[in-house]
This record gives sequence, structure tokens and C-alpha cells, in this order.
Amino acid sequence: MNHRNRLEELFGCWHSVPLYIRILAGVFFGVVVGVLVGDDASVFEIPSKLVLRLLGALASPLIMLAVVQALMHAQIPRGSGFRLVGLLVLNTLVAIFIGLLVANVVQPGGWTEPPVSGPEKNAPKTSSSVVGQFLDNIPKSVLGPFGDDGKVLSVILLAVAFGIALRSVKSVSITTVSDVVDVSCRVLITILHWIIEIIPLAVFGIVSSIVGRGGFAAFQGLAVFVFAVLLALFLQVIYYLVRIRFGSWVSPRDVMRHMRDALVMAFSTASSTVTMPLTYTCLRERMGLREQSASLGALVGANFNNDGTALYEAMAALFISQMIGIKLSLLSQLLVVLTSVAASVGAAGIPEAGIVTMTLVFNAVGLPLNYIPILLTVDWFLDRCRTVVNVMGDVNVSCLLDGMVREDQPVSGIYRETKHATTGD
Ligand code: ASP
Repeated sequence: MNHRNRLEELFGCWHSVPLYIRILAGVFFGVVVGVLVGDDASVFEIPSKLVLRLLGALASPLIMLAVVQALMHAQIPRGSGFRLVGLLVLNTLVAIFIGLLVANVVQPGGWTEPPVSGPEKNAPKTSSSVVGQFLDNIPKSVLGPFGDDGKVLSVILLAVAFGIALRSVKSVSITTVSDVVDVSCRVLITILHWIIEIIPLAVFGIVSSIVGRGGFAAFQGLAVFVFAVLLALFLQVIYYLVRIRFGSWVSPRDVMRHMRDALVMAFSTASSTVTMPLTYTCLRERMGLREQSASLGALVGANFNNDGTALYEAMAALFISQMIGIKLSLLSQLLVVLTSVAASVGAAGIPEAGIVTMTLVFNAVGLPLNYIPILLTVDWFLDRCRTVVNVMGDVNVSCLLDGMVREDQPVSGIYRETKHATTGD
């Protein structure tokens, strides 16, 4: 077997292990190396800087295309548009409010010293090294290299990335404007998946560097942060169920029972888009919602409605600001609210999309981006939890749109079967 085959086999093996296991392995080896190597482990931070730089570059075009695509394809019947937008905005604002409230009360960032004293401070001056110079050439934005600070190497890197990503769609025929947007989205998401592949390495680097320089103190704060996010997500689910109880004919118990499969799928795939067809089927066939309510909530809403993501981004911004001792004024928190709404609307329903758009929230309030990799250590888990809430948000909107009176005609599929089973006819 030649070297190439062996390399491909090795890559295939690595790829076949689920991402969260690889991230956990990154945490484990990061701890071991951090303990063994101590202060010098800061050299391993390089992959996390690389990931950050790449995520930052992809954030704006991804958000732009995700919103354009969603608006282009949305089919909203006349008269339902305002109601839908009203529900979406209200739910997202409530989510962010709950997130900020919990973060202000629990103060997860106050439980720890800033880890690695701001990943940057003691870190080696990478820009003077070869690796540092390479990192300097990673574009900060997709259009950046074509502007004033144009670097030829950045242009070449972009050309290579897009060239390879475009290979998979080179024979797709483009006949409409919508095709152009769809293909562009596909290409960006392909590149995003490559970046996601480096996340375990970035987690290894950041964990070894944190442990090497400051021991385990930072993880105490991270554990409180995880607890705070789970508490806030739980409160958001309670809010949804109360709204469903009083604003629709559906009972909260039936929601949990009939939507169980979709929620489990959301947790296991960390993707509300992948879960979307099942969400729709459960709403329509198991719960018996009207076709219009189910499709508006699950199919249209899913593209804009990412309350779990909005809640998480706001909490993450507050957590980091508390940890590094930057007090966010009420005005800055308002800015967090606004950017979190925008970031959640623009977040694609795919794993780790929230981390991409988070760079925008941090930028808006002037928080240093170099703390985001710390969140990567727990993001694989919190991503799954916020995806469940994103799907619950779609369910909530569908139920509320369906109103207080149940549609009188049975629908086909599983719902009819369960109905017959319970009524015995
Ligand atoms: N994974 C989430 C979803 O699919 C998006 C996110 O990363 O917050 O809904």
C-alpha cells in the first residue's frame, strides 16, 4: 500500500469518528499535554487562531447568503407574514432576555480568572515566526485581500479553497438567480465543513495552552457557564410550552410526546435544517396541525427562527466579558441583543453555525475574538442543546399560528393511525 492510500485510509478513519468524540479526545489530550508541557504548551494555540481567523472570514458572506436564500425561497401567504414575523421577533427577544437575565444573575464569568491571561498575552509572538507569518496571510474576510491590504498569498489561499470547493458543483447547471445563491451557499458550507474538521485540533491546542499556563481554574467557570446556558434554555422551553398552552389548542404534553422524535434528532444531529422534514412530519401527521401552520413554522420559520442560538450568543458575550472584567453597559447589552438577533437569523441550521456568527456579536461590542476558542471546548454539547430549542421554537410558532381551534379533517399518515388506535375505529 503506498503512502497516499495509507494517508487516505487514516483520514477516512479520523473522519468516521463522530465530531463530538474527536473534540472530547482533543480535550483529553489537551489536558495531558498541558499538564506535561506546562507554560510552553502555548505554541499549540496556533490551530485555534487559524480556526478563528477562518470562521471570522466566513461569517459575513454566510449570514448574507443565508438570509438572502431564506427570503428568496420563503412562501408566506398574504396576511400571515406580519403574524409570523411578530412571533419570530418576540420569541427571539424573549430568548435573549432570558439569556442575559440568567447570565447577569448567575455571573458564570465571575467564577474564574481569565484563562491563559487572554490567550494572547503570554503567547509566543507568532508573527515573527514562519507560522505566524503564514497566519497573517489567512484572510480576515473573503473580500479583504482584494481591498487596500491585499496580500497575494491571501488571494492564492482563497483561490485554492474556492477552486477545490467548486469542484463538487462544477457540473451543476445554473439557470436562475436562485441557482446562483444556492450554489454559493453550498460552496461556503463546504468550506465551513473543512474548518469544522480542524476544530478538534483547535480544542486540543486551546485546552493544552490553558491547562499549561493556568491549570484547571478556567474550567470551573466553563462548567458554571454550561449550567447557566442549560438553565436559560430550559426556561425558554417552559416559555414556549406556556405560550402553547394558552395560545393554541395543542396541549404541552402532546407537544413533548408527538415531537419527541424530532427533538431527539435535533440533539443527535445538531442541525435544525437536517431535522426540518421530521419536524414538519411530526407537526402535521402526529399533532394534526394545519398544513399552512406546519409549513410556516417548520419550513419558513426554521430559516429565520434560531432562538436557542440567539440566547447562546448573548450569554457567551456576557460570559466572556465577565471573565475578562469588561463591564458591558446597558447600551452594550442592547447592542448584544441586536447583533444576536441578526446573528441568529443569519445562522444556518447546521452544526457549529452559531460559533461562526458569534464573531459578529463579539466584534460589535468590542470583545476580543481570541476568547471564542475557549467556548469550542463545550460548544459540541451546547450546540446540540440549542438546536433542540431552535426546533422547539419552530414548533411553538406552528402551534400558535394554528390557533385555538383544531382543524376538523384528519390528515394522512401516522397521526391517523394513532387516532384510530386510541379511538378504536
Ligand atoms: N446547530 C444549530 C442549528 O442547527 C445552529 C447553531 O450552531 O446555533 O440550529
